[in-house]
Amino acid sequence: MGVVEKFIQNPNLEREEYVALLQASEEPQAAARLAAEALRLRRKYYGDAVYVRGLIEFTNYCKNDCLYCGIRRSNREAQRYRLSEGEILSCCEAGRRLGFRTFVLQGGEDPWYTDERLEVLIRSIKENCPGCAVTLSVGERSYESYQRLREAGADRYLLRHETASDAHYRRLHPAEMSLAHRKQCLYQLKALGYQVGAGFMVGSPGQTYAELAEDLVFLGELKPQMAGIGPFVPHHNTPFKDEPAGSVELTLRLLSIVRILLPRVLLPATTALGTMDPLGREKGFSAGANVLMPNLSPAGRRRQYDLYDNKLCTGDEAAESLAELKKRVEAAGWRLSMERGDAAEELGG
Ligand code: SAM
Repeated sequence: MGVVEKFIQNPNLEREEYVALLQASEEPQAAARLAAEALRLRRKYYGDAVYVRGLIEFTNYCKNDCLYCGIRRSNREAQRYRLSEGEILSCCEAGRRLGFRTFVLQGGEDPWYTDERLEVLIRSIKENCPGCAVTLSVGERSYESYQRLREAGADRYLLRHETASDAHYRRLHPAEMSLAHRKQCLYQLKALGYQVGAGFMVGSPGQTYAELAEDLVFLGELKPQMAGIGPFVPHHNTPFKDEPAGSVELTLRLLSIVRILLPRVLLPATTALGTMDPLGREKGFSAGANVLMPNLSPAGRRRQYDLYDNKLCTGDEAAESLAELKKRVEAAGWRLSMERGDAAEELGG
């Protein structure tokens, strides 16, 4: 039996087998087989629903210096902004009126947003929008901080691990950051009862199938409720400005593989995928993705949350164009769902 069938029958492979799987999936027939199985599983657990989350990029101040990221602290040309509590609540209110029931608050690691400020913010959102889910994506913090934010009402937390290979992590990040700490944060978040999203960039500098195999092993161990997987896209003011972008086609294969590895996972068709290919979103759904995160940030600020070059933030990417987005999703054969869209529960066993 080939590695593709072996993986479909028993998805937890060894590192070397993942490398063989990735190699085998270069064959279009093998990629199609993986996509078909991924679709079967996404339909089994989620039907034809594509869940939407309203993304609010509320600060682009960041104390970190990740080599790939356009809002790294060394980028002196980034125009920094920070939304006030009132502005963030207005974004949520606009989203609530459009029908959004999940808000993702994402930002750089901005020390101005202390635990106290985030607690007040989370409580206000929960009060103004009863029943909605609040997702945080504000990087690495202490256990105590995660605990306080959870107690204030945060339901979910997105923290991509970026790469599960130690050596590769060091190539992408400054010396003061570590993979061990990032992983520890993810396990702490899980222990505190957050629904957790991990994930990685595809095609970041120095990445080979061996690194991707580490990512798959790690996702199999962590079992996050969500996995954010998108291509690396260079930013002109970073040390990686001349590096090639990650491949859309490899991203799609990885979406299928992760859907098979974690059948109930929530898998976004990411903005980076849409940026690299005008049909990236649709292709993502066909590969097993089932989440979209349209942008709810104030229109005037969107360009400033400049993680990589040409990042989409208008058109179907914008939350206010929900009707267009709905049409597009339906044209691709899916149904836009405004429900909270929690990860499907394990059924027995
Ligand atoms: N500060 C938080 C954190 O570290 O998780 C959230 C914000 S961070 C900017 C969000 C994500 O953007 C990162 O996890 C990373 O994967 C992605 N990102 C940053 N630069 C990118 C690039 N050049 N290409 C693709 N994705 C990028």
